[in-house]
Amino acid sequence: MTATRDLDVVNLSAGYDRADVLTEMNVSAKAGSVTCILGANGAGKSTLIRSILGLCRVSSGTVRFGSDVISDMPTHRIAALGIATIPEGNRVFPRMTVLENLRVGGLLVRDAARERKRLDELFNIFPRLEERRNQLAGTLSGGERSMLSIARGLMTDPEFVIFDEPSLGLSPLFVGEVFKIVRRLKESGVTILLVEQNVRQTLDVADYGYLLSQGRVVTAGPTETLKNDPELHKAYFGVH
Ligand code: ATP
Repeated sequence: MTATRDLDVVNLSAGYDRADVLTEMNVSAKAGSVTCILGANGAGKSTLIRSILGLCRVSSGTVRFGSDVISDMPTHRIAALGIATIPEGNRVFPRMTVLENLRVGGLLVRDAARERKRLDELFNIFPRLEERRNQLAGTLSGGERSMLSIARGLMTDPEFVIFDEPSLGLSPLFVGEVFKIVRRLKESGVTILLVEQNVRQTLDVADYGYLLSQGRVVTAGPTETLKNDPELHKAYFGVH
């Protein structure tokens, strides 16, 4: 998959029933790059993801994917354009086998030959899952379950992948594995939006980043620059 479409969040104010959480937010994820979203708990990271996926109330502004305005589309249409989310943690269907879990992720893939090809590609990236293809997902280790939940989210061969804290609750070994997967996907040309609390590793893999606080972008820039940004140091490393 070689991504060609940028995602642009333009002057977006959005939130829930009572009030906006995001205020005039501008965020862009360029095709084929990794963009990270950083910020403390409650900064609005999940709300930004929900807005992109059509799961929030938008009061003004737009979200565009290529030439499509997606902020007024239902979630299933947004998914059909090639946008996928990998939810936090390691949620799998425990009583289904690894292969069955992957097939569920590929329900939108109607063509059997395409499904087989995609399974082969994913087993190439996740050899452990191939070894365990007939094992019940509930009997996998935590790290393996998180690999399975990532692989399941990739079954549709999406152009744009949103990772929502993929390393949450994982041991350091598997955190490293998750970042390897992100790198590998980036090399394959997929566009990635990465929300993560592992700031150092995230800044190493991402090309561009945004720091959010109270529903606004506090600072943004290429990650090489962000690494030395005083706002970022203040937020994460306690330097004033
Ligand atoms: P975390 O890292 O803790 O997930 P976050 O940066 O993802 O934090 P959000 O979950 O987007 O932050 O929350 C931003 C604000 O929106 C918070 O003040 C939160 O209380 C509020 N909020 C989140 N979800 C809802 C909801 N379903 N209804 C009303 N308010 C919500």
